[in-house]
Amino acid sequence: MRIAIDPGHGGKDPGAVGGQLRESEVALAISLFLRDELVDGGHSVLMTRETDVFITIGDRCRLANTWKADLFLSIHCNAASSPQAHGMELLIFPGSARGRDLAGHIWGALRDIPGLRDRGIKPRGDLGVLRGTSMPAVLVEAAFISNPENRRDHLETTHGRRRIAKAIAQGVMEWV
Ligand SMILES: [Zn+2]
Repeated sequence: MRIAIDPGHGGKDPGAVGGQLRESEVALAISLFLRDELVDGGHSVLMTRETDVFITIGDRCRLANTWKADLFLSIHCNAASSPQAHGMELLIFPGSARGRDLAGHIWGALRDIPGLRDRGIKPRGDLGVLRGTSMPAVLVEAAFISNPENRRDHLETTHGRRRIAKAIAQGVMEWV
C-alpha cells in the first residue's frame, strides 16, 4: 500500500498550543513513529513534511494525489477553550464509505489505549485535507493538547506518542 502521512501544521503555523507544547511538534513526532511502523509493515510511505516547515493545505493534497496514495492520514491534536475536554476523535469526509471503514479500524485500535476517551468518528465537510484528497482519508485528532492530563499521558512523552502511532498503524494494517 502507498500511504500518505500528513503531520498537521508546521513552520509559521504551530497549530494549537497547550502548556509548552505545540501541536505541530506533536503531530510530526507521532507521524515519524507512524511512518516507521508502516515501513516496518512493508508499506510505502509519503510524508507531506518531515521537518518543522510550513506547507499549504493545497500542497499537502497535491503531494498525496500526484503520488497516487491509496490512503491519507492527517495527524493532529485537538484543542478546546475548556481545559476539561479530552480524548481522541477521527474526522472523515461525509459520504466516504471507504474512509469511514478505514477510520473504524483506526478507532478500534485507539480505543484500547488506557485513559484515552473515545469521542467517535465525525464527518466534516469543511476540512481542506479531507476535501482535496482523492483517496480514503482520515484526520486523527489524537488527544487534547489543551487538557493537562491528555498532554501528560498521551502527547508529551515518547511513550505516549509511540503508543498512538502504533495504534494508528495497527488499524491501518487491519484495513489493508
Ligand atoms: Zn490541527
